[in-house]
Amino acid sequence: MRPRAAPPELDFPLVRNGLDYLTSVVEHLDENQSKVTARDVKYAVLHLQAAVEVLLKARLMAEHWSLVFSKPEDATRKALDEATLSSVTTDQAITRLRNIAAVPITDKEEKALTGLGKHRNKLQHFGLTAPARAVEAKAGEVLDFLIRFVDEELLIRLGPKERKEAERTLRGLRGGLANINTFMKERTNRIRGEVKKEGAENRTIQCPDCDQMALVLGEAANSDGELTVSCRFCASPWEPEELLSFHRTEGQEEPSELNTCPQCGEWMLGWRVRILSELVGEAPFCFACSVAFPALAPCDRCGRPTAAADDSTGRCGSCWEDAMEETRYGREDPTDYGYGPEQWDDENDEEQQ
Ligand SMILES: [Zn+2]
Ligand SMILES: [Zn+2]
Ligand SMILES: [Zn+2]
Repeated sequence: MRPRAAPPELDFPLVRNGLDYLTSVVEHLDENQSKVTARDVKYAVLHLQAAVEVLLKARLMAEHWSLVFSKPEDATRKALDEATLSSVTTDQAITRLRNIAAVPITDKEEKALTGLGKHRNKLQHFGLTAPARAVEAKAGEVLDFLIRFVDEELLIRLGPKERKEAERTLRGLRGGLANINTFMKERTNRIRGEVKKEGAENRTIQCPDCDQMALVLGEAANSDGELTVSCRFCASPWEPEELLSFHRTEGQEEPSELNTCPQCGEWMLGWRVRILSELVGEAPFCFACSVAFPALAPCDRCGRPTAAADDSTGRCGSCWEDAMEETRYGREDPTDYGYGPEQWDDENDEEQQ
């Protein structure tokens, strides 16, 4: 890691300023340099947010200076020079970069970029402890995006001397990011080791907040009899109902009989839940009994859980009977029920980490 730059000059160009924020982020999060404290995470997030703002703006400026105003129609050179403008928000900047500057930003990247603000607010409200790990995981994603963004969108727009300086800084940042990812991975492995020892791989699922496979369900209820579990990676607390809301059928707003668990009968069965056990992978999962049902599939026609293995038609018993009648009396279109078979195509999502 190269030493910190001299105190910023007054005319520090935007890119250099953004890179300086990123350098600070890496210094705060790289455990090779020193142990990462919750306070480090706080400043990493603040500086990461600043880097996002500054670097996205730098690219907008390259397109046209009026684009950094929240309302380009009110843009004046004077307001820009005197820095009295009301600036674009991150959401606006992303929209303009996509629509006007044709910068490719995926939905996932957009979510990570705009999610930072939410995490920063969480840190401010809940103090320094609980959400720090989730924030750290997200920060890695944003850092990864910004390094690529500088490389692909900004370097080519710099003069040779500035570009050299920026490239040198980027090299340091890449090294830091690799270290951060290594430590994240070590923490993930440690949690996996613990889960394995407890024999809980079949009931450990992906946390919706930090995306790590670190949410161990089916632990004993706490003293109040609540079933809240906390993610072992980021400490986010989850109730079964909340988890179900991430795993309902597309377009489904409330739990219904489509979520009936074959074991407990409750409307608590979520679809396509990612489970740590590699034998199971992605499967239907009951958030009340904390059991995965890999042999269960939604009925091709009505969407109710049905034992896929027993019945090659992909239909539940009652739809199968209907089908028999149809062959006798004519056929209905399954899409009348809102369920086409294409919804249930298995995606072989790549195993994360
Ligand atoms: Zn988590
Ligand atoms: Zn159940
Ligand atoms: Zn059916």
